Amino acid sequence: MSNYNVAMMDIHSPLSLIPNTHTSTVAKLKKLGLHTFQDLLSYFPVRYVDYRLTSKIGQVQAGETVTVSGRVKESKNHHVRRNFSIQKVTIFDETGELELTWFNQPYIVRMTPPNAVIAAAGTIERQGGSLIMKPIEYEVQKPGSLQGVHTGRIVPIYAQRFGLTSRLLREKIAWVLAHTRYDNMIDWLPDDIRSRHNLLEYSKTIRAIHAPKNDHDIAVARRRLSFDELFTLHISALVVRQNWQKKSVIRQLVLTPAITKHIETFVHGLPFSLTKSQKDAWLHILRDLQKQSPMNRLLQGDVGSGKTVVASLASFFVALQGLSTLFMCPTEVLAKQHADTLQRLFENHKDISIKLVTSRSTAMLNDQKPSIIVGTHALIASTRSFENVGLIIIDEQHRFGVVQRGLLKEKGGIPHVLTMTATPIPRTVALTIFGDLDMSVLYDKPSGRKTTKTYVVPDTKREKAYAWIAMMMQTHGTQTYIVCPRIEQNDTDDASAETVGSMRAAVAEAKRLQENVFPQFRVGLLHGKLKASEKDTVMQKFTKRELDILVTTTVVEVGIDVPNATIMMIEGAERFGLAQLHQLRGRVGRNEKQSYCLLFTSDGVKHSARLHFFAKTTDGMRLAEYDFKQRGSGDIYGTAQSGHSSVLQMASIFDYELVARAKDAAYDFLKEYSPLKHPLVAKRLEKLQSNRVTKD
Ligand code: ADP
Ligand code: MG
Repeated sequence: MSNYNVAMMDIHSPLSLIPNTHTSTVAKLKKLGLHTFQDLLSYFPVRYVDYRLTSKIGQVQAGETVTVSGRVKESKNHHVRRNFSIQKVTIFDETGELELTWFNQPYIVRMTPPNAVIAAAGTIERQGGSLIMKPIEYEVQKPGSLQGVHTGRIVPIYAQRFGLTSRLLREKIAWVLAHTRYDNMIDWLPDDIRSRHNLLEYSKTIRAIHAPKNDHDIAVARRRLSFDELFTLHISALVVRQNWQKKSVIRQLVLTPAITKHIETFVHGLPFSLTKSQKDAWLHILRDLQKQSPMNRLLQGDVGSGKTVVASLASFFVALQGLSTLFMCPTEVLAKQHADTLQRLFENHKDISIKLVTSRSTAMLNDQKPSIIVGTHALIASTRSFENVGLIIIDEQHRFGVVQRGLLKEKGGIPHVLTMTATPIPRTVALTIFGDLDMSVLYDKPSGRKTTKTYVVPDTKREKAYAWIAMMMQTHGTQTYIVCPRIEQNDTDDASAETVGSMRAAVAEAKRLQENVFPQFRVGLLHGKLKASEKDTVMQKFTKRELDILVTTTVVEVGIDVPNATIMMIEGAERFGLAQLHQLRGRVGRNEKQSYCLLFTSDGVKHSARLHFFAKTTDGMRLAEYDFKQRGSGDIYGTAQSGHSSVLQMASIFDYELVARAKDAAYDFLKEYSPLKHPLVAKRLEKLQSNRVTKD
């Protein structure tokens, strides 16, 4: 079918109606929860690259990021060696010739036969005596196809998931924008709120976010979408709070003198004494647990502040009443680790059973003995009845409130809920956006901890750094994490990892390090695509010091606790948000020894101000704030905020002005809100509530 003169299509059409869309693509989009054109338009870019500057071939200059177009003169595939080939395509216009170079993408040659007209975008480099480009984006101009989708404009970058590439998503979204009347889409946000807070209309927002003409477009679109998130979250939190207060617990727990004694003995038996904050938090929790109304408390504490032991005290108290605890973790690796920790803590309490539930088994709660059941977030879905469950602990949850909303649907009594997070949340914001939660904060770190020394290391010192790490491991018996930003060249299940750079793939990197750099040490590999049992084995080995080096992706980001590891080296550090780097760095500095964090970048000095700030700052809250301010000051092309452990996709909790506006709007709105009167708002709330928890 020709794309010219197609009648405008309905925004509710199924995605299979987009021309040249394979059924497997439709299936993948479905996995993302995208079914209709309208759904697709709500999949927003994570960042942008500016390819607006176009140039005649004869006028390009080294270092310039530019779009060029021309006719193909010659297109050749050079097979260099196994698994390595170079594609060279020469294009020309009336002013000159330019060589475009790709690596390991032989299909490029098929796409660019002589005489084809192509546009390519990237940075001009000097190679030998001539200028070349290694295009980041390109497009072949064909009659009837959309032009200027991947080049010649501010190009949106989409998070790549389930094998959907940013390029494919960009193509489909551009097609939908060109072929639907999205401009008369109804705005779900009531008009008066929109105008009072000076927010862009929804349809204009959709255009501006996917096809911005300039930076201003992006800024106003993001402001509107951020408001949407904050407003929805706020209403949802208020509704949860109202309903939560009407609930009661399965059985009220009591603190008898005998139980007090048990707990004291338990605390004395710990290998350390609790910090002041840990004691305070525990007292808050203990008070909550004795109430008739279920607890809904957030325990916030920076990485390494010792949240786990507070959680185990809570589960101990619950077990002493004959009730079980569900302990939910974001990853299986972490679940295994927590199960081991609890096993050790409860060694002298054989009457409490610790169970690890993996993705293949389901929770069995029919025992006589109270249990602490540890598993991933899927745990709650596999729990049929909460009859014997006194407490649910949620460690490092990606989305707040999911479990709570599920529990509100229960007919009878419900368990207490304790949520733990290392995400820095300013107190005032927590009390507004997460208004459904009470909050305890661990301000102080366990004593005797040194701050982790952090350095931004230039690539020229790489060999020296390796030698130093080897020396440290040799003489101090310490262990090292080496973090790579992604698994393999084309695996980009991560918002921040989609462009081709010099990032080292973890798999290849582990091999290289073992063979060429650290032959005398034992190198292990951990990444998200390993089977659960394989991850397990690797983690066990690292914990038991049967491995010296763990090469890993960001799966180590959350919660992993191996105190003997005191060195962390991060590759492609500029790819990460500061909050994420902080999480990663939190894996070291877990005992009284001096720890080190070495940051390597894949593209030199460009982001070093940010990284230097990181190197000298240890406060997670300040780091998160810094990242937000940078984005706020127009750094829209920079590192995307990682979806990991971030509560919001578009908005930032450090945007105090917008948070306050959303709060006021939500309070006012709730006074008159009814799902019947505001069906679109009701639908958005529903969508927020059905958002699945991200899987490991
Ligand atoms: P997080 O808050 O990041 O989840 P963890 O609970 O994993 O932190 O605790 C980090 C480390 O600190 C663990 O090895 C734990 O045993 C230890 N720890 C916890 N509390 C204390 C304390 N009061 N004194 C000394 N070490 C502690
Ligand atoms: Mg933890």
